[in-house]
Amino acid sequence: MSKLTRFSNKNRAARLDRAVDTFYDLIVIGGGITGAGIVLDAALRGLKTLLIEKNDFASGTSSKSTKLIHGGLRYLKQFEIGLVRETGLERAIAHQNACHLVHPEKMFLPIVSKGTFSNLSANVAISVYDWLASVPSIDKKQSRSKQEAMQDEPLLPEDILQSGIVYSEYRTDDARLTMELIKAAVRNKAEAFNHLEVISFLDDGGKVNGVVVKDVLGQRTQEIRGEVIVNATGPWVDSLRQMDQAEAKSNLKLSKGVHIVLDKSKLPVKSSVYFDAFDGRMIFAIPRGKAVYVGTTDTDYSGNKEDLKCTAEDAEYLLGAVNRFFNVPPIGILDIKSSWTGLRPLVHQAGKGPTEVSRKDEIFVSPSGLISIAGGKLTGFRKMAERILTAVYESSSKTFQPSRTKNYKLHHQPFDSYNEFTAFVNALHNDYKTFSLSLNDLYTLASNFGKDASTILVNAQMKSTNTKEENWLGLLQSQLHYCIEYESVYFPMDFLERRNSWLFFDIENAKKGLEPVSHQLANELDIPEGARKSQLLKARKTLANCSLEQLKESSRQTAR
Ligand code: FAD
Repeated sequence: MSKLTRFSNKNRAARLDRAVDTFYDLIVIGGGITGAGIVLDAALRGLKTLLIEKNDFASGTSSKSTKLIHGGLRYLKQFEIGLVRETGLERAIAHQNACHLVHPEKMFLPIVSKGTFSNLSANVAISVYDWLASVPSIDKKQSRSKQEAMQDEPLLPEDILQSGIVYSEYRTDDARLTMELIKAAVRNKAEAFNHLEVISFLDDGGKVNGVVVKDVLGQRTQEIRGEVIVNATGPWVDSLRQMDQAEAKSNLKLSKGVHIVLDKSKLPVKSSVYFDAFDGRMIFAIPRGKAVYVGTTDTDYSGNKEDLKCTAEDAEYLLGAVNRFFNVPPIGILDIKSSWTGLRPLVHQAGKGPTEVSRKDEIFVSPSGLISIAGGKLTGFRKMAERILTAVYESSSKTFQPSRTKNYKLHHQPFDSYNEFTAFVNALHNDYKTFSLSLNDLYTLASNFGKDASTILVNAQMKSTNTKEENWLGLLQSQLHYCIEYESVYFPMDFLERRNSWLFFDIENAKKGLEPVSHQLANELDIPEGARKSQLLKARKTLANCSLEQLKESSRQTAR
């Protein structure tokens, strides 16, 4: 069992000084899932590796996905057999290597008249899907008659329903998965910084050999050198390529994807349902704890990448799809609890709309030697990293070991199986039943932190003589302290959005926790009062944005 490695912004200045004095074998720009996967693969092969992220880890697309580790049934329709096979096989590997975080999920596909799939095409497609991904018999698709489908999911539209299919995928928390990869890389001697922005490249005789970084927390500008530089900046890949070579042409096509979050009581589906929207697209309704999230949209985007918003049109599209399909009382904008908006960094294909563009990844090597990777999926991060390391090998003077990520457990104290994980959650529930923590609270804590959930609970020092509020605060402070020490949290939203997802799935607790979180961050990280206040203001804006306060206000005014 390996130990938990400190990974904190408390000793950032010393770490940055060391980074400036080091010549790295590999520098990776972009702390989303793609960069995180590359850094882990490289560190496990023994390369001296550095990861640089301008905001927080996973603050780009990698916290805004549908959070499925899946082959992507719809890509079969586009005959993307290679992509479906690769990501299909990767699902089980991701689960095996992080079973606290990548959980099996039964999906329900209702077959409706005039829908995307007929009964025959759905059965054939999912059989092929299961076969391509070598799904074990126990998890293979199961057909449901109309009557059985209605029993499984009573909210389905009985008048147009013909039958249903249950099939297997995996569900995760994308930001946590990114974090877990980075922590594993750091445990294997990689260095990684959040809130450090690459503002230009350094070169020697036309060959890129370093980066100039701006420390967003200290405002210092420094140079860091390395032999090979990888640009894994997702939607920003073209900007970095153009920073390297002004004449580089754009390769990306960005597509915006929105999810909305509802209280589960508004849409009480029992499993994740993959259903037909009214325009020939398909979207998901996925239950998660007390919430259900619905998404996604898929529209061309050319606006500001730093200021993504769910518009009234996006929200109405998703609400319209739910209201038309499910047999529920009408759900309106005021019922939306939270939302998130992300950008798909797709590789441009002439003449294709956002839904038709391939999700395959592609590698571009510029004349300066900068290696860029674009496209791809959350699910394919491990294979993308392998491909990038092959390209790095071509440019490096180092000898490389083969990739070790296929059987590498991400957590420092891994569970051997999903059964062991669920037994752990049940034992916690038993131990903490006097503290009004629900099974779902403990399940979330254990999927976020694995076996470290026990340490966090012990350090929370909850007492039966305390009030519920005191115990709630104790647990919040203990989680935050862990994330400051071991997960480089600096800003309130690093914690409330990407380490525990309260912003999306428990917005009331995010609102309630904001002040205490901001004070604790200031105390532990020596943040001056002025800076604390401006952080707080920014966090409040994010809260208002995600809960669609502006759209709700206009909707109230229209109703008056
Ligand atoms: P990002 O996560 O965006 O990371 C790039 C990082 O680079 C950012 O954090 C950014 O801040 C940083 N950066 C940019 N410029 C600089 C700089 N100058 N210096 C330092 N850092 C910089 N895939 C699945 O497998 N399953 C799904 O369910 C799924 N659903 C999706 C739903 C939606 C709506 C979307 C948009 C995508 C979905 N995907 C899904 C695809 C998947 O989320 C993406 O392919 C993946 O997250 C992209 O990760 P990335 O690391 O390449 O990019």
